[in-house]
Amino acid sequence: MIKAITEAQNNNSFNNIQLIATDMDGTLTKNGKFTSDLISALETLKHKNIDVLIVTGRSACWVQTIANYLPIIGAIAENGGLFYNNQTNHCQFLTQIQDLATYRQKLSSVFKLLQQQFPQISESEDNRFRITDWTFDIENLTASQLTEITAICQQAGWGFTYSTVQCHIKTLEQDKALGLQSVLNDYFPKLTSKEIVTVGDSPNDESLFNQNLFPVSVGVANILDYGDRLKYQPTYITSKAEVAGFCELADILRKQGTDVVKIPQEIRD
Ligand SMILES: [Mg+2]
Repeated sequence: MIKAITEAQNNNSFNNIQLIATDMDGTLTKNGKFTSDLISALETLKHKNIDVLIVTGRSACWVQTIANYLPIIGAIAENGGLFYNNQTNHCQFLTQIQDLATYRQKLSSVFKLLQQQFPQISESEDNRFRITDWTFDIENLTASQLTEITAICQQAGWGFTYSTVQCHIKTLEQDKALGLQSVLNDYFPKLTSKEIVTVGDSPNDESLFNQNLFPVSVGVANILDYGDRLKYQPTYITSKAEVAGFCELADILRKQGTDVVKIPQEIRD
């Protein structure tokens, strides 16, 4: 059962948090846009020495821009496909691709297969800027149609996930949790799982709610729209939806503990 975020506040469960790994659409946005409240919350967290890492299904192109302009340490794009590291200004592939042209051709073939069954689906505007997945807009697809699409992709040997805005054809192994774990292993090897909080709002975030991997997770209130469609549920839920929910979490983190001097990864025990 999901607990109210106030319970975490009362138990000081967020006292040791040093990194927030958060979804973007529906979690950091309000009606699809960034707000001044978001920028303010990110600045506050930075001042508090709490790192923010965006983990989104959006395309490589979009995410490189977002990582550059927001006060965050970096961003993972395409549901675990690539990592843009603001500390090194380096892009790292998290999904291994031998031949990109052949890979894109295979993704295109799976999409054409889906179009035979669902002729109404069309490529997302940002699909041309993608590297590791193939994306189409979710529009009016029903829950049962999404289940059917998942099964078709699996039969073809591919993975499938969706958010509030887009549907993604990808490798079976590519998901937000695996991408995040890879980044944590490479760049934050000393962080324990209780020093990380994961945040999200929809089915493509469900791997971030796997308590065996991430024991401290938060769903913003709009995640309730998905009811039991999620394989994993978050540990805590905010009372407010979308970015107002994220700001609720940021405010608790702002008030908890004291401003600590962050010990660099390389000299932590
Ligand atoms: Mg989302």
